[in-house]
Amino acid sequence: MEKKQFQAESQRLLDLMINSIYTHKEIFLREIISNASDAMDKLAYKALTDDKVGVDRSQLKIVLTPDQIARTLTISDNGIGMTKEELESNLGTIARSGSLQFKEELAKGEKTEGDTTDIIGQFGVGFYSAFMVADKVTVTSRAYGSDQAWRWESDGADGYTIEPCEKETVGTDIVLHIKANTEDDHYDEYLEQYRLSELVKKYSDYIHYPIEMLMHKSRQKPRPEDAGDDYKPEWEDYDAWETLNSMVPLWQRPKSEVKAEEYNQFYKEKYGDWEDPLSVIHVSAEGMVEYKAMLYIPSHAPFDFYTREYQKGLQLYSSGVLIMDKCADLLPDHFRFVKGVVDSQDFSLNISREMLQHTRQLKIIATNLEKKIKSELLKLQKEDREKYKTFWKAFGPQIKMGVVADYGAHKELLKDLLLFFSSKEGKLTTLAEYRERMAEDQQYIYYACGEDVGQLAKLPQAERIRDKGYEILYLTAEADQFVVNALGEVDGKAFKSVDDDDALPRTDEEKADLEKKAEESKEVLDFLKETLGEEIKEARVSQLLKSGAVCLTADGPITLEMEKYFQKVDP
Ligand code: ADP
Ligand code: MG
Repeated sequence: MEKKQFQAESQRLLDLMINSIYTHKEIFLREIISNASDAMDKLAYKALTDDKVGVDRSQLKIVLTPDQIARTLTISDNGIGMTKEELESNLGTIARSGSLQFKEELAKGEKTEGDTTDIIGQFGVGFYSAFMVADKVTVTSRAYGSDQAWRWESDGADGYTIEPCEKETVGTDIVLHIKANTEDDHYDEYLEQYRLSELVKKYSDYIHYPIEMLMHKSRQKPRPEDAGDDYKPEWEDYDAWETLNSMVPLWQRPKSEVKAEEYNQFYKEKYGDWEDPLSVIHVSAEGMVEYKAMLYIPSHAPFDFYTREYQKGLQLYSSGVLIMDKCADLLPDHFRFVKGVVDSQDFSLNISREMLQHTRQLKIIATNLEKKIKSELLKLQKEDREKYKTFWKAFGPQIKMGVVADYGAHKELLKDLLLFFSSKEGKLTTLAEYRERMAEDQQYIYYACGEDVGQLAKLPQAERIRDKGYEILYLTAEADQFVVNALGEVDGKAFKSVDDDDALPRTDEEKADLEKKAEESKEVLDFLKETLGEEIKEARVSQLLKSGAVCLTADGPITLEMEKYFQKVDP
């Protein structure tokens, strides 16, 4: 039989798995179980949209079978199964975006192999984690819609084999050939019923399909009717099926009963991130529409976030049953970084995508969630500025885009979330904080655009404004100018570029003085215009300057920086 090699990066991850430290090995079970649960979700989802599938959800389950004599642990599911091609591509390559990103960071040297052991413990690394406890893995699978089953087998090190085989039912059996104990590492526990049920409770309790095991037990035999006084109770062994998990999804549990660690664990496992999220929003709404939602704000942007590939959306469940994997209508674009689930029994199970978009409930939920997300972000901003800055670094550009998008339709909602660099504070500030610090005689919110804060601090035309004690927002991102233009004003105070001739209000006296100076300088100004010709529009006397002799400004409503930006995009 032909032996195939793993892709190079898969082999690397595999090596990490095999050599990972003991304490993390136990997570293999949650990884295998979560894959089984995904496979059953896929089948159940197919059944919703396709009558031919005829799957009864109540029959979907995961079965654990430890065999101490053969030293195998089998995890079976009756989910969607895998075809030969799927076995090859899914198990022969790294599927998870998280693992991929992790691998890239390893390559770039941002993470060292020393970090990896920790990461493996915290964050799911998928199917390969099986090799932490098994020296051989056999996967037998029959895909939904196919009569042929396939057996995939690998010992991790030398690639894998694949061959046709028999399997009565659709689904997947994963057989882990558990390693022998060594002096340092013990693997026997993964064949013990008690330990396995403990691991299921610990990591997979919320999985919404039953995880069953035939438990070996003993009990007292019933006392025979005719037993005499000298009867001694007798014991007998028996086997009974037990469901090991409580099947209550995390978001269905009361907030007060869920530990921070459980929220984080769920997030990392589900969304393939190895960093904890910045915030969790757990909502249990009653009233017009009843729903539960569990939303996460990630601490960094996914690697494809600012590309077309990234798809926003929340998972939509109806009473614990997944009905849509990425429901885009639940999230506005400006909050597209949010991950999470919404569960509402107000949706029928077989609602079509098209119908769903038009339901009133969906709109109500989306509007409520938008408010919740905003208030969570404001809370972070007030109570934990460091965290908020992490958020801003990751998703600030998205918020700015949101202010400008749709002709400013969302600016009122988003303006409180903006941060700009303050000349006075020497750090990022909100517009509300700026407003609070404004001097009584100050008419405008001042801003200056440039490449960096250091350069802006020296801007000659800003000197007079700074002298007055007025604060200036230093805008260094290209998008900032658009944001300020879209906002126009904040609570009645307009934005004003320090470039503007009338940046500082003028008295009649000053106006007359300026006219006089212009008269006197006519010769110099004409000389400048003649010499520079088309390079400039005009040379004029300005009141903006104090110790600086000259400055460049843009003509009209856009600043010099914005003009540069337009020239860049549209030369
Ligand atoms: P992930 O679950 O993040 O996609 P894994 O490494 O855990 O990554 O699994 C890789 C892929 O293998 C899955 O995406 C899925 O397509 C497939 N797979 C694994 N286990 C099963 C299973 N029990 N039934 C069907 N497909 C499976
Ligand atoms: Mg997985």
